Amino acid sequence: MLTEFRNEPFTDFSQPDNEKAMAAAIARVRSQLGKQHPLVVGGERLETGNWIVSTNPAAPGEVIGKFARAGSAEAEMAMQAAAKAFQEWKRVPGHERARYLFKAAALMRARKLELAAWMVLEIGKNWAEADGDVAEAIDFCEFYGREMIRLSQGQPLTPYAGEENELVYIPLGVGIVIPPWNFPLAILTGMTTASIVCGNTVVLKPSSETPATAFQFLSIMEEAGLPPGVLNFVPGAGSEVGDYLVGHRQTRFIAFTGSKEVGLRINELAARPQKGQIWIKRVIAEMGGKDAIIVDRDVDPDLAAEGIAASAFGFQGQKCSACSRAILHKDIYDQVLAKVVERTGKLTMGPVEDRHNFLGPVSSKSAYGSILQYIEVGKKEGRLATGGEPAPTPEGGFFIKPTVIADVSPTARIAQEEIFGPVLSVIKADSWSQALEFANNTEFGLTGAAYSRNRRHLEQARQEFHVGNLYLNRKCTGALVGVHPFGGFNMSGTDSKGGGRDYLLLFTQAKAISERY
Ligand code: NAD
Repeated sequence: MLTEFRNEPFTDFSQPDNEKAMAAAIARVRSQLGKQHPLVVGGERLETGNWIVSTNPAAPGEVIGKFARAGSAEAEMAMQAAAKAFQEWKRVPGHERARYLFKAAALMRARKLELAAWMVLEIGKNWAEADGDVAEAIDFCEFYGREMIRLSQGQPLTPYAGEENELVYIPLGVGIVIPPWNFPLAILTGMTTASIVCGNTVVLKPSSETPATAFQFLSIMEEAGLPPGVLNFVPGAGSEVGDYLVGHRQTRFIAFTGSKEVGLRINELAARPQKGQIWIKRVIAEMGGKDAIIVDRDVDPDLAAEGIAASAFGFQGQKCSACSRAILHKDIYDQVLAKVVERTGKLTMGPVEDRHNFLGPVSSKSAYGSILQYIEVGKKEGRLATGGEPAPTPEGGFFIKPTVIADVSPTARIAQEEIFGPVLSVIKADSWSQALEFANNTEFGLTGAAYSRNRRHLEQARQEFHVGNLYLNRKCTGALVGVHPFGGFNMSGTDSKGGGRDYLLLFTQAKAISERY
């Protein structure tokens, strides 16, 4: 019998054996860098003569790998391969499809450290973050596999004399999966496996920042025995391949995670019916955040500062759930701010191949430029409390010191726009109600945390803090599959909940069947 779902445990790298094994995994992955990788369409390997070159953000001269770049011709081939494979795949029973996910989870578990090592080198995740990313990917496979088995049982209907009635969940068709680079394995795995296990086929366009990690996933799904054409791999420019696939007449749904700007563009393009299109495309979009932690006057300042610093600077602040605004009650403002600054100053930074470095580089040259620009804006909008500059390395890595800007107005640009880097704005509130009002005054609504000892205030936060994932007296990052179903409100997305029991319904349609004998 299938065991109940449990989260994959994290690796304890303070154990010498684990530390040694991870160092060996990084060395092994390094020996595989620089290779060329094809597109995979209908199970065939394709070259295009054009390449996406993935590099190490800690040492941009180091090439992680070269990935064939698809254009619209290859995107069309991938669409046709997926449409053809759908005719068979949709008939495979849900239990059987789930087993491909369980096999993939087992393969990931066996290669856990190696998968983490790819992310250390390709996107600058520290060991713990990279290990967490792999654990989440495993969780998605295990969770969605079980969820499909549950959905395969249909749902109970009210008895009606003289009829046999049932409701079954059937697949949608070909889905386009467009993940971001910041959870290069977990989010890609989540959106892709949810699509596939429901009986859909997929054209996967990975992020151009992390195609190597995406290729590892593809290899695992192939090794798990997924039939050709069920998963097609087409790295390419969002503006070319992305637009082509989103606009395609045969596309049935788009599962996207990324920025607000791209999410809105996809939503708009998908809404326009093409000639011959016979359905309304479904868009499942997870977008940005401007997440806040609010702190009450009665709170242990160390506890709050710890939660703020961990949420703001984990993976260099490049999480949709990262705390980018700390809203502090005026009575404890100076105290908590001082403690956040102190903790921030102690964070270690450097290439994350060294497990003792907490902060690595930011993702790319363009992110580096944009974050530094925001820091300059922030220096005018508030008071620089710590950081505020790059941290150059001989290899030219994209390192930026973790930055805290105090005395920021709740309507300042740096308090409203998603920066997606290690930059925290600190805002003063006169009261708990005002703190909540400030927390809610952006266009986003993804995560948030509230620290208080006051029961009435905690209840008020439960009711009024308008975010998809609210955390009380703990940090606002680190959602676990099955435990904290994840996804936000307003401009943070289409209100879905990845890793939750409602999620697979987004990838299916329900058919009610009645028979009179
Ligand atoms: P992005 O929007 O720049 O890119 C996301 C993906 O969209 C990439 O694969 C990209 O190639 C593709 N793309 C770009 N233009 C496209 C187009 N015209 N058509 C189709 N696809 C296109 O985002 P990013 O920089 O990769 O990721 C960071 C963003 O993702 C942040 O805003 C972050 O908050 C958000 N994010 C949200 C969640 C969530 O669950 N809500 C999770 C992780 C990241």
